[in-house]
Amino acid sequence: MPYRYNCPRCAITSPSYWAEGRAQEWGDEHRDGRHDGGHPYGEHVEQTRLELPDTGQLGALAFVVALLLVALLVQAV
Ligand SMILES: [Zn+2]
Repeated sequence: MPYRYNCPRCAITSPSYWAEGRAQEWGDEHRDGRHDGGHPYGEHVEQTRLELPDTGQLGALAFVVALLLVALLVQAV
C-alpha cells in the first residue's frame, strides 16, 4: 500500500509514494519550507488505498495499446 504525508495545519497531502521514506522526505521538505523545520501539530505519514487510474487515463492507455497493436499487425503483414 502506498504512503503519503499529511499536514493538517496547511490542509495539504503529498502525492502517494510506494516507499514510506519518500513520503517522509516530502514531509521534511514541506516542514522546512513552510514551518521553518518545526513539526506542525497532527502531521503524519499514513498508508493509503491503492489509487486506480481514472477513466480518462484508462482511455488514453487503451488508445496507446491499440496503436501499438495496429503497428505490430502492419509490420506482420
Ligand atoms: Zn504544513
